Amino acid sequence: MTLIQDLGGYKGNHLWMKRDDLLPFSFGGNKARKAELFFQEIDTGEYDCVVTYGSGSSNHCRVVANECCRRGLGCHIISPEEEYEPTFNSRMMELFGAEITTVPVSHVHDTIEEKLNRLRASGKRPFFIEGGGHGNTGTEAYVNCYQEIAAYERAEAVRFDYIFFASGTGTTQAGLVCGQLLAGDDRMIIGISIARKNPYGRDVVLASIRSFLGDALPEDLIEQATIFIDDYTSGYGKEDRAVAETIGTVLKQYGIPLDPVYTGKAFAGMGAYIEKNSIREKNILFLHTGGTPLFFDALRKKSGNI
Ligand SMILES: *Cc1c(COP(=O)(O)O)cnc(C)c1O
Repeated sequence: MTLIQDLGGYKGNHLWMKRDDLLPFSFGGNKARKAELFFQEIDTGEYDCVVTYGSGSSNHCRVVANECCRRGLGCHIISPEEEYEPTFNSRMMELFGAEITTVPVSHVHDTIEEKLNRLRASGKRPFFIEGGGHGNTGTEAYVNCYQEIAAYERAEAVRFDYIFFASGTGTTQAGLVCGQLLAGDDRMIIGISIARKNPYGRDVVLASIRSFLGDALPEDLIEQATIFIDDYTSGYGKEDRAVAETIGTVLKQYGIPLDPVYTGKAFAGMGAYIEKNSIREKNILFLHTGGTPLFFDALRKKSGNI
């Protein structure tokens, strides 16, 4: 589904927004786009339950739990207890009947292994999805998104010079970059990191790109196309004044919800990047990656300052 909205002038440039937050299943977002492909695999295979992991505020876990629920598949979520506070996403995971196991973050890896082993030993056939929908399937979902963007450009005779978005595990970014490299296009794809620092954060994106493309393309092209900005990280979920202000402004001006963990940071980071690099008279696309339940979590907390 391609929904790209023309938002008009923005800091001397022209801004559009791709509304992946409005994808039709389970409040949309990039996790809904990724899950659609994972569940195509699950539906064609011999699986009867799903194991994944994420925090209590995870959009990924909400979407996976919802996909499992509609199919009557068991959903087993391993969650770090340090990050398991009640949120709209955790409430929905519970509503969808997911079995949530909270353990100290250092035990998450082993607990996943144990869970998979125990399920197999009892005759179950679990499908494992990495946190955040990481992996080649998740990357492919954003190659598809890139192709939707390119199709919009052809249809509307416009060209986006920049694409900005929130980068977490880097799968979204890897997909967009792979899409661009496979199409032979040239533009700035800029991931605004919401937590990870360089060089690690960018290295993970590069690894995802190489894993998806194999040896198909030269290394220098891949390096050049991968821009990972870590100036705007303040850690998962931390309140940040500039981000809160951005969320308020975007809601009032465009009627679009952003959240403090992902899209609010990315939008604030985009604005700062445009100013710092004196970008003018360019066509800019912001990819809205979803997270609407997190907007409501922030709205509920007065300290969110929205
Ligand atoms: C998970 C998430 C991201 C980050 O996506 P990655 O593919 O992990 O980089 C960005 N925005 C929202 C709303 C998310 O839920």
